[in-house]
Amino acid sequence: MLAGIKSLDDLEARHPKRAESVTIIGGGLSGPCLAIFLKKLHGINSTIYELRSEDYSAGVNIALAPNSLRVLQHIGVLDELRNLGHPYEKMALTSARTGKQIGTFLNGSQKHYNYESMRIHRRTVQLVLLKECKALGIPIHYNKQAEGIVEETDTYVKLKFEDGEVVTTDTVVAADGLWSKVRDHIVKQELPYSGAMGVIIMNIDREKLDESVKKVELPTFCFGQTGMIAVFPSNPWGGAIDMFSTMPFPARSREEWAALDADGEGKRKIMTDRFGKGWPRYIARAWETEPADKMWLTPFYEAPAFEHWTSPKGRVIIIGDAAHAFSPQGGQGAAMALEDGETLAHTIAHADFATDRLTLLGKWEKHRQGRLRLVKDLTDWSGRQRAPVSSPFMWYLKEWVMWAVLKLKGPTMGMDWLYGYNPEDIVSVLRS
Ligand SMILES: Cc1cc2nc3c(=O)[nH]c(=O)nc-3n(C[C@H](O)[C@H](O)[C@H](O)COP(=O)(O)OP(=O)(O)OC[C@H]3O[C@@H](n4cnc5c(N)ncnc54)[C@H](O)[C@@H]3O)c2cc1C
Repeated sequence: MLAGIKSLDDLEARHPKRAESVTIIGGGLSGPCLAIFLKKLHGINSTIYELRSEDYSAGVNIALAPNSLRVLQHIGVLDELRNLGHPYEKMALTSARTGKQIGTFLNGSQKHYNYESMRIHRRTVQLVLLKECKALGIPIHYNKQAEGIVEETDTYVKLKFEDGEVVTTDTVVAADGLWSKVRDHIVKQELPYSGAMGVIIMNIDREKLDESVKKVELPTFCFGQTGMIAVFPSNPWGGAIDMFSTMPFPARSREEWAALDADGEGKRKIMTDRFGKGWPRYIARAWETEPADKMWLTPFYEAPAFEHWTSPKGRVIIIGDAAHAFSPQGGQGAAMALEDGETLAHTIAHADFATDRLTLLGKWEKHRQGRLRLVKDLTDWSGRQRAPVSSPFMWYLKEWVMWAVLKLKGPTMGMDWLYGYNPEDIVSVLRS
């Protein structure tokens, strides 16, 4: 009966609501993404609890691959982000030895995948997602630290916060990042250091770089015998430049890493020793002259391949870095977090979820773990390409191999499986 409808709100109020209540821990990338898909596409309510304050700002510029952009387009925020980041398609590989281009490949492509790639601050993406949550009326509680699961039964789960509050809910999704506390309920394991770390300087004024940069097509990965330096424009008009390297580095304690990060001149020395002599002037000079307090150092810790991302009763689920953090050397961490959010939302929204959640979550987990294994392999391969080589001869050889691989594989480098992935395909996986 459509008679007497006064407004869309009035119509909505007449429909019975979806009963499932979802509690999301973590307002980073995967948490808000999940909340938006649940609400916007399926009318399922959720609540987000975030450890930090609303105005907490940290993190670095990241590269969003085409498969990230597809999720953001499904959400409806991609056009807004395009005005805030630096979209690009082609990636140049250059030689530190000759300063010349070895070749190019497509890191994103409207033509091949419908989406380009984008360099943007992680915080910007997070803010745009949180704004969308607010617009949809999704409650977000800041300064609220989850402590862990206190009870899980066949019908509910209880979650405790540091302030003593206990919340009872149908489902808890832990999107609380690398150092997840909620994860302990599913698997309790130390996270190993990956053996690599990264140093970045963000937002260098392009005009201040040595003029040798003018001969180089950006963005570029510049490879030399002592490693790799990436050079990326990071704002819409390309006037701000990020320069970073990831490299094998000996392990140390958390305190020692913090001390090294606080030692500006120590970081400069690491970089100028590796990327000074024999490197293009615009790279060497940046590490010599940029203020040391602009250099950020991050050791990369990784989550081992956990057997399960869901608890035995299926009421606690981990996603994003909490489930599968790995080093950012493949540029896929955010993409995997966003894909998790979208695919899990479609799974929770399945008509049989209330009666058969274990089967559905089992299919979701198997599907996502299969993809994550491939992405992890790619990330490790990418890390190996960036490592130093033992001699000038080996480096000369490697340069030729790179050139040959680019020629043989063609512009997309066989990345269709990665960048062409559509999270909506989870619907047919759940049907199978
Ligand atoms: C140096 C660096 C460079 C990177 N570069 C790239 C890149 O180029 N491309 C790419 O795709 N990815 C990159 N990544 C990875 C990417 O940032 C992450 O994979 C992504 O942010 C994961 O999203 P998430 O939502 O799972 O976790 P996060 O973004 O870490 O969000 C987790 C949230 O949970 C909150 N939280 C934590 N504990 C609790 C608690 N107990 N209670 C409540 N809230 C809690 C945190 O405050 C945080 O807001 C990079 C990462 C690093 C460190």
